[in-house]
Amino acid sequence: MIKLKKALMAALATLSLGSLSAQAESFVLVYHRIGVSGGLTLGLSPEALQKQVLELKDQGYSFILASQVKSCTGRCVIVTIDDGYEDVYTQAFPALKELGIPATFFVITEKVGTEGFVTWEQLKEMQAAGWEIQSHTASHARLIDLPPAEIRAELQKSKDTLEANLGTPVPCVAYPYGLHDARIRKITAEVYGCGFGTLFGLNSNSTDELAYYRPFSSPLDDMGILPFRAQTGLDHTALFMLLPLADWQLGTPVNTRDSSLNPAPYTLLGDMEYHLDVGWGQRQHTLKYRSHDFSVQADLHRGIQSYNEITASYHLEPITLGVGYGNGGVVLGASANLLDYGEAYGYYMPSTADYGFGAELLPLPYLRLKTSYGSKDGLMGSAEYALPFTEGEGRPFRINLDYDHQKWMVGGSAFLGSFKFKVSSDFRTTAKVSFSALW
Ligand SMILES: [Zn+2]
Repeated sequence: MIKLKKALMAALATLSLGSLSAQAESFVLVYHRIGVSGGLTLGLSPEALQKQVLELKDQGYSFILASQVKSCTGRCVIVTIDDGYEDVYTQAFPALKELGIPATFFVITEKVGTEGFVTWEQLKEMQAAGWEIQSHTASHARLIDLPPAEIRAELQKSKDTLEANLGTPVPCVAYPYGLHDARIRKITAEVYGCGFGTLFGLNSNSTDELAYYRPFSSPLDDMGILPFRAQTGLDHTALFMLLPLADWQLGTPVNTRDSSLNPAPYTLLGDMEYHLDVGWGQRQHTLKYRSHDFSVQADLHRGIQSYNEITASYHLEPITLGVGYGNGGVVLGASANLLDYGEAYGYYMPSTADYGFGAELLPLPYLRLKTSYGSKDGLMGSAEYALPFTEGEGRPFRINLDYDHQKWMVGGSAFLGSFKFKVSSDFRTTAKVSFSALW
């Protein structure tokens, strides 16, 4: 009960975004490249970088390192730079050194010393000047695509390499693309103790230490919104939370629950997920949010038919219990971790005697299988395989095979950072497009 109360308090603290409380809070700035045109990775000039940090310094923020996140008193800023590009040494390092501001550099250890990336000598020089070098995994793989042994290898190899070359402890990892799940957080707790994601928010002593918030940089930061972002921890991706609310076109109400939806997600859940599926005259919005062991999920169907459901779940190792309410009445659900290879779940709706069960599995690297059976919607299944080219970019291109409401569908999907786009069709009557955003 005390644990539940703590989780609820943490959830409330997160939702209040800290703006009303007086506790110590840190805002994390995230950069990738400095002084080069970075395209999608948001390259900033060294002058713009100086201007941004000075603006916050003038407002009384103190600058700390990622590993010091727990020792923040008052209002803090943590400057973090990901990946390990050479321009961070040539451009960002001198620019921040001039201002006496240290930064945390999350490097991909397999890239160190390769063309376009920093060398171990440069990292040692930065470290001697007050920077800290932490892990961004060995190869920058999308960890959520991997079975447990491969996740552990990515995390452990990177830490060992950093410690061997730099001779200092490495307590923190920044997850590539900000993507993590309970399996990844569990291994991070064993190997590191501190992990950074990319969800918006401010970090306090009640923040999950395996998923510190790191809001996205905004192109509007230079136009005066940075102080507001530092105060609230918000970024543009917070707008996804409003999308389901903006879609109010209700069709005929139905009480058929989609059996592919796990009512008590935990094992494969990061901090937040938003999915939109469009097809067959229907739009399905699914929003999930997790804080510590507590999560909430909304499932809203719009278009020809409408269905609404909201569930809340609480994780009690090794199972997760969920309860919710939808068009079909009360929903009772539970899920269980399948040895860190995935999760199985089931649900029952007392008022309609509707039931279902399913599982989501990662039996091999880059292969994700899902299957579900519902008393009303029958058997469904899907397989997704990430194609082996573009290894260093976390295998963005995938092929999909779905058995969806009695139709075989073939499709393709692609990740752009932590956003995913998918198109699938049965090549006769229908096509479906999907969008997912993961934090
Ligand atoms: Zn990265």
